[in-house]
Amino acid sequence: MINPVPLDVLAALDELGIEYSTMGEEAKALCPSPEHDDTTPSWSINLDSGMHHCFSCGYGGSFRRLVADVREDGGGSWSDALLWIQQRKVKDIAEGKVGRKAKPKKYAEITAADLWEFDEEYPIEELEFRGFDGDVAHGFNLLWDQKRDGWIIPFHNADDRLIGYQFKPRHGTDGTPLNHPPHLKKSGRIFDNLGIIDGDLLIIVESPLDVVRLYAMGYDNVVALFGASMDAEQAERIIANFSKVILFFDDDEAGRKGVSRALKLLKGTDVHVFAYAHPLRMGQYYVHTEVSGKDPGDLTKEEVAEGISRATPGFRTGFL
Ligand SMILES: [Zn+2]
Repeated sequence: MINPVPLDVLAALDELGIEYSTMGEEAKALCPSPEHDDTTPSWSINLDSGMHHCFSCGYGGSFRRLVADVREDGGGSWSDALLWIQQRKVKDIAEGKVGRKAKPKKYAEITAADLWEFDEEYPIEELEFRGFDGDVAHGFNLLWDQKRDGWIIPFHNADDRLIGYQFKPRHGTDGTPLNHPPHLKKSGRIFDNLGIIDGDLLIIVESPLDVVRLYAMGYDNVVALFGASMDAEQAERIIANFSKVILFFDDDEAGRKGVSRALKLLKGTDVHVFAYAHPLRMGQYYVHTEVSGKDPGDLTKEEVAEGISRATPGFRTGFL
């Protein structure tokens, strides 16, 4: 194989010191060509084929080309690049068919060893902004990525096995949350583990850090879906464990769509919807509160308590 591609292209980019953001089948980054002093991310790489291209300067080619050009640890020759890739797990792509979209992608499994590079030195300002302290963060197994400056939020499947983690940039910085591995199936991924929550009532939020924040406010029955879109398997696990649910999604378009979707999936369960102020949208169906923020992270303890106490039965929300 003359043009091998690492099985886990993103992990290889990490090793090469390339900071990227992912979008579908691609990752974007500042152009890694030593010749190009890129200021906006002009370069993208296909995560399947490893082929890459800079729209600004035209640099690009195979993954091997990239390795040969950007390796910082010395041996940046063309033949060493081949060795470097072969020392990692390599994708099974037949020669000459690179770039063809054929097989479902496989990514290296995440293990506890993948978390060793992170620590628990959470920045004070970040803890203050999030509304919980280091002990609580530690209790939820949160870690901090000093290099990329953001949270590492491990997630486990229904059997409590580590299956991946999310990187979430520090508040106020650009960038979007990134999942590792990137195409991890959403199903069954819930933060925190449903099995340890006592009682009948479950509160569901979008973001895992809001679970931690609400815990610090005294709510120990909160889980996060990693986004607003519930899937059928998550719904199944929720229905199996709880008789009453409060949906406390963000007060934006994605959040409202997510509520509609969840209400359909949780049919037959006693579902309430967190009471944000929505006099216009909800008309007579909605209880108007003085809640001012647009997601759990914006609200004070009193506002959270009020919104929860006034949560509206799903069948009356107008979301259905
Ligand atoms: Zn370039």
